[in-house]
Amino acid sequence: MKKIVFATNNAHKLQEVSEILEDKIQIMNLKDIHCEEEIPETSDTIEGNAYQKANYIYEHYHVDCFADDTGLEVEALNGAPGVYSARYAGPQHNSKDNIRKLLTDMQDIENRNAQFRTAIVLILDGKMHLFEGTIKGTIIRSERGSGGFGYDSVFVPDGFEKTFAELGEEIKNKISHRAIATKKLVKFLLHE
Ligand code: IMP
Repeated sequence: MKKIVFATNNAHKLQEVSEILEDKIQIMNLKDIHCEEEIPETSDTIEGNAYQKANYIYEHYHVDCFADDTGLEVEALNGAPGVYSARYAGPQHNSKDNIRKLLTDMQDIENRNAQFRTAIVLILDGKMHLFEGTIKGTIIRSERGSGGFGYDSVFVPDGFEKTFAELGEEIKNKISHRAIATKKLVKFLLHE
């Protein structure tokens, strides 16, 4: 079975991606390759950050690997928080603070359209490949649901009434931005 390193420390993401991959490809995490250092993530684009993380692992550990980066892009905020989604409320802040800032910034905004966008960069045998996934939806005015992570509790995907946090992992993992990008990655890997 193919073994590939997923350059993330986020347990939620690892679980989501492993579920989509089922037993087709064995995923190793950063601990498995004894990577404990902070991987730089300083690009001003989502694709750039995914590339920076994957390339760091490839250059330092010489293994096939992929990395993802995700942003929430709000139409009325010109695509913000976007690449800065994790640090929207400031460098030391967490998801609760980020959500609070987002809801405050959107208090007087009627256009609630937004999308999650994931870029996955795979480096296989030294060659770079990019896969993208987006899901459109709306930002509601107060949090609902306890599942998921990040901005899940305020995002209702188009075609649904519930937030990602209310829909639960099984449904989210079928329709999410990361699921779309990951399915493209898997299709590519299985045909390589
Ligand atoms: P990153 O891809 O880990 O850099 O994520 C950037 C920001 O988007 C963080 O604040 C995450 O919590 C958030 N985020 C990433 N993926 C998701 C998701 O699937 N749902 C909700 N928030 C997410």
